[in-house]
Amino acid sequence: MVTLKGLTKIDILHGTTICKLCGEGEEDSNHLFISCYVVSVVWHKVSLWCKIPQLYVFSIKELLEVHKSLMVHKL
Ligand SMILES: [Zn+2]
Repeated sequence: MVTLKGLTKIDILHGTTICKLCGEGEEDSNHLFISCYVVSVVWHKVSLWCKIPQLYVFSIKELLEVHKSLMVHKL
């Protein structure tokens, strides 16, 4: 798996790998889609906008499959 930390180590990326949205976690795909505080606020607002229960997922795989558990009706 390619990570930002790995790309930085082999001199592909330069600078910090700390999340630029929250300044706390390492900026990897799991952080950017799941565990970042700023992103959790965005997901909450998306849930409100779509009128679905708030999303609680712990992996990108769960995020990609969450639509299967929602009772969404076509208009
Ligand atoms: Zn973050």
